[in-house]
Amino acid sequence: MLQFDIITIFPKIFSSYFSESIILRAQKNKLIKINIHDLRKWTTDKRKTVDDKVYGGGPGMVMKIEPIAKALRAMKKNKKTKVILFSAGGKQFDNMAAMNLAEKYNRLILICGRYEGVDERVKKIIKDLGFNFLEISIGPYVLTGGELPAMVLADAVARQIPGVLGKTESLEEKRLGVGVPAYTRPEIFVFKNKKYTVPKVLLSGDHKKIEKWREKQIKTSG
Ligand code: SAM
Repeated sequence: MLQFDIITIFPKIFSSYFSESIILRAQKNKLIKINIHDLRKWTTDKRKTVDDKVYGGGPGMVMKIEPIAKALRAMKKNKKTKVILFSAGGKQFDNMAAMNLAEKYNRLILICGRYEGVDERVKKIIKDLGFNFLEISIGPYVLTGGELPAMVLADAVARQIPGVLGKTESLEEKRLGVGVPAYTRPEIFVFKNKKYTVPKVLLSGDHKKIEKWREKQIKTSG
């Protein structure tokens, strides 16, 4: 079982996505567990403040070190625990990284940034608490927060865990690779007087030819 512990100031964001389809089934089958932690739980003031002004001046706010430090201290850890901090400038996430995380760890603690990111000293705290640590970006663009990255990573990692994908789903992916075009009925779709057809080879019933055609289409094989 792989456990995700997601630390966020917007816990409600996750409920819809994680309560559907393959990810829901994986939780029910106890292949993954997802805990969502509201960072405000580790604040001490009445207003449950999680951000403050930037030292040195400048616009925007930064996530405070204290609640995150306390949250991390409250997290149980073992040798197979990794802390992931989301940041636009982090190491680029890809399918290989997802496979590695799924294989090597049984607990992933995901920290979702907001505002101008988290106080830089959080990285030191993570290390000083003895956590294995990685700073991850899900792509070369800036999002408003780390919640989408956390969902992306949890989804990509979860589907690498044996049993999460149904037999047909995983077999098809292994067989076809990533990026192979797929078609379904109707054979000819007419839309605004134009015909949209399926490549003839796929209708030929010639499995060797179909395999060859599919191999040619593969762009990446993560
Ligand atoms: N100036 C900040 C920077 O360069 O990282 C922008 C912070 S962004 C508005 C707020 C948070 O969203 C970040 O702390 C991070 O957690 C998350 N985030 C934004 N873009 C991301 C990306 N491409 N990959 C991963 N996390 C991202």
